[in-house]
Amino acid sequence: MRRAVYPGSFDPVTLGHLDIIRRSSDLVDELIVGVLNNSAKTPLFSVEERVKLLMDVTKDISNVRIQAFSGLSVNFAKEMGAEFIVRGLRAITDFEYELQMAQTNRIMNPEIDTVFLTTSLEYAYLSSTTVKEVASYGGDISKFVPATVVDQVFHKMAEKKNKK
Ligand code: ADP
Repeated sequence: MRRAVYPGSFDPVTLGHLDIIRRSSDLVDELIVGVLNNSAKTPLFSVEERVKLLMDVTKDISNVRIQAFSGLSVNFAKEMGAEFIVRGLRAITDFEYELQMAQTNRIMNPEIDTVFLTTSLEYAYLSSTTVKEVASYGGDISKFVPATVVDQVFHKMAEKKNKK
């Protein structure tokens, strides 16, 4: 049984993430998408909401499981019985950070390797941050996130605005 984890914030899941999920799920028996519960960051969506969105957009991929986690990715991978961690690489700007993380993780647990998939070109400049930025000005995000996520982003933003 070959298992991998794909950890990230996914706040919210984008078409770039989904592309990495689809492609990496083809390489393994089971792919576990780990949704990071990071108390240091204030996300747009709660971890439960991010898990739900991911479950919804991956429901047609049978070997993908979505799981919330906190703490270190290597520990999460070990707990899940995964052999490797999947990460996506976009532009060169991702490279230094990702390399640093991968090296650190390998020192912490040499049994778990990190595998990088390069982004499909159309998503090379896409990030969850960009999506939130565009949406905050009422821009069209339908080319960036799955259709079901579009409404949820605007809904959530309106909700937060009303609370202020
Ligand atoms: P993190 O906070 O861990 O960077 P993200 O949710 O932003 O979490 O990203 C999770 C992973 O997905 C990272 O490896 C990131 O490089 C990758 N990723 C993000 N956006 C894209 C994209 N458009 N194409 C390919 N990989 C991406």
